[in-house]
Formats: sequence, C-alpha cells, structure tokens
Amino acid sequence: MHVVVTGGAGFIGANTVRALLSRPDITSIAIVDDLSTGDKENIAGLDVAFYEGSVLDTDLLDRAFRGADAVVHLAALPSVPRSLSDPVASHHANATGTLQVLQAARRAGDLYVVAASSSSVYGANRALPKQEAMRTSPLSPYGVSKLATEAYLTAYRHSFGLDVLALRFFNVYGPMQPAGHAYAAVVPAFITAALEGRPLQVQGDGDQSRDFTFVDSVAQVLSEAVARRIAYPDPVNLAFGARTTLKELIGELESVLGFPLSVTHTEPRPGDVRDSQADSTLLRTLFPTVAPVALREGLERTVRWFREVSCHDGPDAPSTTL
Ligand code: NAD
Repeated sequence: MHVVVTGGAGFIGANTVRALLSRPDITSIAIVDDLSTGDKENIAGLDVAFYEGSVLDTDLLDRAFRGADAVVHLAALPSVPRSLSDPVASHHANATGTLQVLQAARRAGDLYVVAASSSSVYGANRALPKQEAMRTSPLSPYGVSKLATEAYLTAYRHSFGLDVLALRFFNVYGPMQPAGHAYAAVVPAFITAALEGRPLQVQGDGDQSRDFTFVDSVAQVLSEAVARRIAYPDPVNLAFGARTTLKELIGELESVLGFPLSVTHTEPRPGDVRDSQADSTLLRTLFPTVAPVALREGLERTVRWFREVSCHDGPDAPSTTL
C-alpha cells in the first residue's frame, strides 16, 4: 500500500510517518510539505519520497498522489493565535488546501482520505464532554478553517462517493512538537521553560482544561484508519475523554521532573475555549484496539525527548508560585 502524508514533516506528521513505516502492509510513503511550520530534520533518514511544496500546488499534488492508495491529510497552519494574526493565510492553507487535496485524490483515482480536523470546531459550545453531534460554533478563524476541512470531507463523500474520515484532534502532545516560537502549544512551551529554569506562562487562571492526547495514539489511529480504510460519514473525535486542567498538568510535570516549577499568569488568550473534553465512544467503536497513553507516561516520554534534543539536565529551578 502506498500512502501520501501531507504535512508529514510536521509534529504529528513525522510521528505518523514512523507509525506507518513500522507496518508491513504499508510499502511506501510520500510526503508533501512546504516546511512552513514543519522541519525536514523530523523525517531525516526515513525511507520516504519528499515533495517540497504547498498543497495549494495542484501539479505537485498530482505528482505526489500518482500510484497512491490513501492520503493522510495533516498539512495546515495550526494554532488559534496564528489564525488571529493572519486569518487569510490559515484559510488558504487549511480550507482551500483541503479542497485541493480532495480534488487531487479524485483525479488520482478516488483515493481514501483521512484528515485532521480539530476540537476547536466546538468553540463556544460549552457542553462537556463533546459529542460529535453537538452544535459546532468556532471562536477563531482557525476553528472555522477546520470546520471547513471536515465539511469538505463530508461533502466529498456525499457528492462524489469518496471514502473519507475526518478526525477531530484535541490537544496532541509528544516528541517533535515545536517549542520556542510565538505559537508553541502548551506542553512543549511548559517543558522547555521548565528545563531552562524559566517560569511557566499560564494564560488565564490555569483552571482551563484540555483533553491531552499523546501523539502515538493519534499516529496509531491514523495508520489503522489507512490500513483498514475506515470511512465514516461524519467527523469523529480523536481523544480519549480525559480532562486535565493546566494546574493539574503543571503538577504532573513537577512530579515527572522532580522539581517545583514557578508560574506567571497573563491575560486569557482571545479565541481560546475554556474547557475541552471528548466523548470517545465513537472512536472506541471504530478503533477498538487503540488504547490511550496515560498523561504521566506521555509526559515522561516527551520530557525524555526534549532532554535528548536539548541536552538539558534540568533544574536551576525557581520555586513554585502556584
Ligand atoms: P505542524 O505545524 O507541526 O504540522 C503541519 C505541517 O503542515 C507542517 O509540516 C507544515 O510545514 C505543513 N504545512 C503547512 N501548510 C502547508 C501547505 N500549504 N502545504 C504543505 N504543507 C503545509 O502541526 P501539527 O500539530 O503536527 O498539526 C498537524 C495537523 O493536526 C494540522 O492539520 C492541525 O491543524 C491538526 N491539529 C493539531 C492539533 C495539535 O494539538 N497539535 C490539534 C488539532 C488539530
């Protein structure tokens, strides 16, 4: 089976490519990535074909999709704050990019497409846990672009009979997630701050909660989906129903690191949702063999990776202010 991974040089993409390569039923992989947020280092040494360029480039997509059986579509400009700075760029990459990927999948012979949507589509809807049938109400341009992503997949199934699966990722974390830039996600931002002895910056009071998902579980679901060509008419949550506040996350991180962390609080971020937790019933029905990785173990593995790449040994740690 030949699989194309768009965004394969990114955090989730590079982990997914490794999961796919470990399967005997996947014989070859092509990656399409414009390296706008990804890094070629993430896929260094892997046996893959690399097509550098945008999913908005239809000729590039046609070349990359030739002979493929399936597409894992992860290419996107992630992050809510990035979409507030440049909504049009997020729309082009995420919404128009998905449309171009679906068009190319049809041209290449109705390839199976599994794609990343996001829990941000639930937005202002405060009910918990999030069930797929709940009303969507994105609060940011990013959330809108992901709603468009999943809606295009649904429409291509109904209009053209394409086998598709849109997965709503929640907060994914793990090795290779970038830190050290303005749009860094909370787990890598906290870990790098902790390892460098800087205070952790919490936006808001720290009682906001998230359903943190270790990247291996996401990669496992994506590779299972491809291998078994799992299609579904509506979007499916990809998280396991845990709900962790940022304060609890910091406590777990302190326990993993073995030293106390100092915290500063800033204003809550516009466009951010307060709480997030998935109802995972549908996911567990479609993927009965995929098991979640506990937060403790996921954080241990993530911290180990950050220590290895940065050679940080840890604390000159300031005392906790939480
Ligand atoms: P990432 O930034 O590490 O990966 C995205 C990849 O897409 C990068 O390699 C980037 O270079 C590439 N890319 C961006 N625009 C492109 C374009 N126009 N053409 C080709 N490649 C392009 O982010 P990630 O966290 O790995 O996210 C992967 C997917 O998962 C994205 O679709 C994101 O929206 C979605 N998602 C992630 C999370 C999370 O918690 N990380 C949560 C919800 C949804």
